[in-house]
Amino acid sequence: MTRQTPEPIHVIGGGLAGSEAAWQAASMGVPVVLHEMRPEVATFAHTTDGLAELVCSNSFRSDDDEQNAVGLLHWEMRAARGLVIAAADRHSLPAGSALAIDREPFSAEITATLAAHPLVTIARGEIAGLPPADWSSVIVATGPLTSPALAEAVRALTDERALAFFDAIAPIVHFESIDLSKAWFQSRYDKGDTEAERTAYLNCPMDRDEYEAFIDALLAAETAEFKDWERATPYFEGCLPIEVMAERGRDTLRHGPMKPVGLTNPHTPGRKPHAVVQLRRDNALGTLYNIVGFQTKMKHGAQTQVLRTIPGLENAAFARLGGIHRNTFLNSPRLLDGRMRLKAAPRLRFAGQVTGVEGYVESAAMGLLAGRLAAAERLGRDLAAPPETTATGALLRHITGGADAKTFQPMNVNFGLFPPLEDVRGGRRGRRDRYKGYTDRAKADFAAWLAPETVAAG
Ligand SMILES: Cc1cc2nc3c(=O)[nH]c(=O)nc-3n(C[C@H](O)[C@H](O)[C@H](O)COP(=O)(O)OP(=O)(O)OC[C@H]3O[C@@H](n4cnc5c(N)ncnc54)[C@H](O)[C@@H]3O)c2cc1C
Repeated sequence: MTRQTPEPIHVIGGGLAGSEAAWQAASMGVPVVLHEMRPEVATFAHTTDGLAELVCSNSFRSDDDEQNAVGLLHWEMRAARGLVIAAADRHSLPAGSALAIDREPFSAEITATLAAHPLVTIARGEIAGLPPADWSSVIVATGPLTSPALAEAVRALTDERALAFFDAIAPIVHFESIDLSKAWFQSRYDKGDTEAERTAYLNCPMDRDEYEAFIDALLAAETAEFKDWERATPYFEGCLPIEVMAERGRDTLRHGPMKPVGLTNPHTPGRKPHAVVQLRRDNALGTLYNIVGFQTKMKHGAQTQVLRTIPGLENAAFARLGGIHRNTFLNSPRLLDGRMRLKAAPRLRFAGQVTGVEGYVESAAMGLLAGRLAAAERLGRDLAAPPETTATGALLRHITGGADAKTFQPMNVNFGLFPPLEDVRGGRRGRRDRYKGYTDRAKADFAAWLAPETVAAG
């Protein structure tokens, strides 16, 4: 008897989540149509027509899978043969213990791999409303900049006021315009296995007077105006603009992105900087540097003026200035079931940032999971969600019920989402020991989840 080819799954949005979802479903033998509106319809942040474009920083954050929750997520995605993490690994750049990525070849590889897959069809064009009724399995992975027509249709279907908050993006500087008689190469605490990793960052030092003058300039700078509907929109705490941080206290930045610890200025031996601005390499050529943690909503004129007061950046040429955007996401704890389906219309599954996770890695991980869940469903199998002791499972649990729907805000993966360890030593473990406990447990549980016997015939 010949097996019938299953009906395709339609994935809407070819970003981090949608690309990974398409790859996972196709790898399980299910045809996929991947709908991407670019280049026909643009977003404010994307600049190419490539799949999985990284719109801002080029970092997948820590790659430490023993001590860091996002590093653990990398590990789980590698174990699940994820496309996004494999491309990230192949196009990684030196960045100390972080996984930084050469964004253009990364996106090009993902686009080419999916285009070449016999079960994947890439359809360019916006899905400008609810997907046609005869698409019986859909993954909506349209991201924080979901096109308004689709966002409106989903809002009407759920009868929910879509939540929104602000994200801000950091500026990028041309390397050749940085004054190396003031800046120096060094990763914090010289972290990294290779010389390239230990010198992955450029550091611009400030003494007390320079720092105080910088804060004054920041507080006085003109910022982008908000429209009426934007005034009540909150910021995501993990991505505050620098001027908002400065408003919270003159030393907030010195304890945040400008902290001077773990760095030694070779230009002024024996003198400790009062604050340090770090720039991270943004491409393989080393021609572009991203100012770390410097998201801002300052107007462009004010932005160049203020940033050029940073020692070493007096003549900075900017490849991109910072900006601000609205982020759209579902109230997932209320609207999604435990397998990422919209309760009001279970043929629609959601994945990525639009589900209320935050970050490239988290978005790709939720795409990975949605792709597997949708494909298993298509094949008539009952695939359990990964246990909440895993990074993937902990995130899923958070967005689909663990979080309080009333105060739901997008979430990065972190150990606070994991169930506590059953601690034989009465909870007296040190932090490193505890994190190692979480990651050991997660790896064992994730490997068991991936094992074929967890996919029971339905
Ligand atoms: C400006 C900005 C800066 C960010 N900076 C960072 C950062 O530095 N680090 C970080 O970890 N995270 C960052 N994020 C958050 C988030 O991790 C990224 O947005 C990530 O790309 C989300 O992945 P995604 O797949 O959910 O969405 P995306 O990668 O945005 O993919 C969604 C895709 O859907 C397409 N699309 C939208 N609507 C439709 C439609 N109706 N029909 C067809 N296609 C559609 C879009 O064109 C896009 O390609 C940022 C987000 C934004 C908006």
